[in-house]
Amino acid sequence: MKTTILERAQKIIDQRRYTAENTAINNKVKAYEDPIFKERYQKYTQRMIEESRLGQDESEATKALKALCEKRLVELGIGSIEPQFYCKKCGDLGIKNGRYCSCIKAEINKILRKESGFDKLCDFNEVNFKVFDNPEYMEKLYDKMKKWCHSKFEKNLIFISGGTGVGKTYLIKCMANELINNDHVVNLVSSFSMHQDFVKSFASRDLDEKSLLLDKYLSCEILFIDDLGTEMRLPNVTLNYLYQVINERKMKRLPTVITSNLDLYDIKDYYDERISSRIIDTASSICVCIKGKDLRLKK
Ligand SMILES: [Zn+2]
Repeated sequence: MKTTILERAQKIIDQRRYTAENTAINNKVKAYEDPIFKERYQKYTQRMIEESRLGQDESEATKALKALCEKRLVELGIGSIEPQFYCKKCGDLGIKNGRYCSCIKAEINKILRKESGFDKLCDFNEVNFKVFDNPEYMEKLYDKMKKWCHSKFEKNLIFISGGTGVGKTYLIKCMANELINNDHVVNLVSSFSMHQDFVKSFASRDLDEKSLLLDKYLSCEILFIDDLGTEMRLPNVTLNYLYQVINERKMKRLPTVITSNLDLYDIKDYYDERISSRIIDTASSICVCIKGKDLRLKK
């Protein structure tokens, strides 16, 4: 059976919880073999239950008994009999107060990054603006994009155009990193690999697989598409699927960031009016163009 990225991440979290709980149970069984621990622990639990039945706070005497139990565990060289959860916030449930916890989001991000091949990201704090042809402009642009990462995403589509090697991919790697560090779920993909999934989805006869292949583009909280226009164009696939992704995300107000060697005029010619008008939509899009020489050639 094929599983979604969320299910895969949940499995990792569940596994952590089982391990923590099982370790605690095993420790308790081991500790119970020691008569001193057993006696102290039984006394402690009796008192604790009695106090909570009477609605009282834990007394000093009960706390002292608990400390004695813990001391005995150390003497015996046995670990804690309470589950030691990896995530203290949610106790390895992946959900807290009805929302996804940062621990499961981190796992989703890890899976997405591994799948997309964008394993290494960049950091806004480490950008050396001197390498750019137009350092002042770039500093302002990076600053604007960093602010966007901390916004409520009223502008939910960002289109960054510019020639090869002007630093577009570097910029979106900084953005993805910033967003991940702030608990967002980010899918950063090359247009080429996204298009490969479009083709697979188009060709698949399995309905589950068909939608699963598109799910990470349609539903992911924040999607980055790098180098739009470099994919192989196929009739019945490229335009329809790309429009579906951009349009559906706009409708759901899910942020999308696109980089491309093509400018907005080229986009209209290369794809079609529907796609370019969704990208240009001034009310909810930010379009920027980076000018400059190829940094890779400059080196
Ligand atoms: Zn958690």
